[in-house]
Amino acid sequence: MSHSAAKKRRQDNNSSGGGSAQDSLYFQSYADVSIHEEMLADTVRTDTYRRAIFRCAAALAGKAVLDVGAGTGVLSVFCAQAGARRVYAVEASSIAEQAARIVRQNRVEDRVQVIRGTVESVELPERVDVIVSEWMGYALLHESMLNSVITARDRWLKPGGLILPERAELFVAPISDLVAEERLNFWDTVKGQYGVDMSCMAEFARSCVLNGEIAVHPVTVEDVLSHPCRFAQLDLRTVTLEELKRVSGSFCCQCFGSSSLNALCVWFTVTFPAEDMPPLVLSTSPFKAETHWKQAVLYLDEPVDVRQDTKVEGNISMYPSEKSSRYVCIHVDYTVGEHKLKSKTFSIPDGHSEDT
Ligand code: SAH
Repeated sequence: MSHSAAKKRRQDNNSSGGGSAQDSLYFQSYADVSIHEEMLADTVRTDTYRRAIFRCAAALAGKAVLDVGAGTGVLSVFCAQAGARRVYAVEASSIAEQAARIVRQNRVEDRVQVIRGTVESVELPERVDVIVSEWMGYALLHESMLNSVITARDRWLKPGGLILPERAELFVAPISDLVAEERLNFWDTVKGQYGVDMSCMAEFARSCVLNGEIAVHPVTVEDVLSHPCRFAQLDLRTVTLEELKRVSGSFCCQCFGSSSLNALCVWFTVTFPAEDMPPLVLSTSPFKAETHWKQAVLYLDEPVDVRQDTKVEGNISMYPSEKSSRYVCIHVDYTVGEHKLKSKTFSIPDGHSEDT
């Protein structure tokens, strides 16, 4: 089942921050229209940013803003419409040319300056009051773009300045993923269809399907086996590049009832601050409307039966892959009920696609 060519946060190889040949491949993936189409068509994403920006109108009025990774310039235009004095729309890929046209078409060229280049290398005429960025990748940290936002914060944000969004949180829940179950059962059905028994494929199929890849697909609410558990949170005002080398935390979930647990599901939220108002949350939870991030699914080597109140607990660590620093790896140590501790490391497959 192939989706459109657009893969948010498509990947190249080894890269980090500024200037390498690999970075230029990374930025090329943002030069195409499809990826921007997918992001803008994600109304949960774009509307939440829009509302968050307009809610901050008082904080934006007359202020300078840096949009880290402006893409089509959509967030920069929102900021100008909300009253910002000056918006620096920094974008490394050639989509910056389209951003400049969009800025003119919306008659905000007197306030929005599109700058083609990496945020690591850009020179601005002033420090800014606000940073806005949509940097999140699959499982939050894929792409490592948060590093660029933190670098920009340290270089260009005035002390006490505002970061939109300001906080990110990571969640996990055990699931009974039927997508994998159906794929594994398929080999038992071949004989009925064609008269050729392929049930001996079961083991091989299991080793291929339940491999160490981070699968990205929408998880159905009914497949979630417990309340979600938050295992990490990042405060964008204070988190350091050093801390982003490993984001980890423990989790403990208690299952709702009898089921066959075969995967862990990981997702994230980001939160926008607002004076005198409850914070606004952009959620990629399976319990909320679907976004283009869907959920990250980590298949266990074999399914485990769980019952009401069975504990699924452990520790999750997320870090950039050694061979390609924009690729995220997820290491999980976990126990299910009385079973012994198990460990598994997952990574985004090369040339990632969400097709499985
Ligand atoms: N802000 C846009 C695009 C978000 S996608 C929107 O909300 O629709 C992230 C964008 O950031 C991509 O266009 C990518 O090319 C750009 N980007 C990523 N890292 C960057 C960096 N270090 N410097 C400049 N642009 C960057």
